[in-house]
Amino acid sequence: MARTDTGHRRHRRNRERLKRLREPCHLCDEPIDYSIPYPHPDSFEADHVKPVSKGGYLFGELRASHKRCNTARGNRSVDEYRDSIRVDCVDRFPTSREW
Ligand SMILES: [Zn+2]
Repeated sequence: MARTDTGHRRHRRNRERLKRLREPCHLCDEPIDYSIPYPHPDSFEADHVKPVSKGGYLFGELRASHKRCNTARGNRSVDEYRDSIRVDCVDRFPTSREW
């Protein structure tokens, strides 16, 4: 399928352009170490704002993310993922107000 080949080449170019921007992860807001090689969990991965599996366009908006964040997000929306990590943080670091 020639169309798919062309699409992936274009996608890769978009990804490289995004990588050069050195943006922090759009899912957890933490900086990304762009020197970490893929597929390390903390390495850079281009994340589709709208998941392709949910009807998103392959050339749709890409944002920088950690591979682990992108994997953890799965097919959820960015908002759903952010809600889920907010809950995780509360569980992991309970804020004590007893003092
Ligand atoms: Zn992240």
